[in-house]
Amino acid sequence: MLRFEVFEWTPYERAHSTSFMRISVRMFGDIHIEDRERFATPARSAPNMALEVSCGSAGQRRVMATAGRQTERPVGAQAYLPEAVDDLDELRRAAAQCHGCDLYRPATQTVFGEGPPGASLLMVGEQPGDQEDRQGEPFVGPAGHVLDQAMERAGIDRRQVYVTNAVKHFKWVPQGSRRLHKTPSAREVAACRPWLHAEIAAVRPRIVLCLGAVAAKALFGPSFLVSTERGKVHEPPDGPLLPGRPLLAATVHPSSILRAGQDRHEQMERFVADLAAVATRLGA
Ligand code: SF4
Repeated sequence: MLRFEVFEWTPYERAHSTSFMRISVRMFGDIHIEDRERFATPARSAPNMALEVSCGSAGQRRVMATAGRQTERPVGAQAYLPEAVDDLDELRRAAAQCHGCDLYRPATQTVFGEGPPGASLLMVGEQPGDQEDRQGEPFVGPAGHVLDQAMERAGIDRRQVYVTNAVKHFKWVPQGSRRLHKTPSAREVAACRPWLHAEIAAVRPRIVLCLGAVAAKALFGPSFLVSTERGKVHEPPDGPLLPGRPLLAATVHPSSILRAGQDRHEQMERFVADLAAVATRLGA
């Protein structure tokens, strides 16, 4: 087993401000990392690994040195989480700097969640789309308009809902002058999951509603089937608990209604019914 310690947090002052230098060690590969005061994760083997030493506050992180071999495995968002994980503004600032996987490279910006802290309903989709990537806000494109219509019909006020995505950067492939959505891999979803968990911890919703299979599998697990479980409200699954243990529900992603062709009306009705079931549970 290889073991490294995160050993120092050193305060420093500039002429115009006081900040903290964070000495951090990022590990690439499955290895044991231990901070004497903060956390410990199970030890595992380290066939390939590299070290990266960085400093700065969450919003001004700078890599100082690297060593070793880096696998293709993404390091994940965990390394970018700020100290105050229950502060949405702080989380949003930190996420804007996230390079936890390669999806930040072709994207315009991080699209973090939006909505009031303390919202009783948190909706989580898959990833930002083309319009969301350009505007920096979740669910403002065509799928967002479908969601708005369905929420209104289900009696849900979007201003009272926190909306976000399982993955915070737009993954796309070029087709001529267009940018076509590409589904994020399970590895990319896992890399981004710390942001989603932090949002849930900060908002403390009563219900988390997953929109689509990617979001549902991120929270329910890989065997979850939206097609059979949609519209039901579930207790949190066994395993690592979600902060605050919110109830979980799932339905389709609103973009699927845009692609439904002749079935579009029927699919919209089912989508509204799923949202209405969640609204009823919230009001119970
Ligand atoms: S997709 Fe998530 S983990 Fe990957 S760079 Fe963006 S914010 Fe970070």
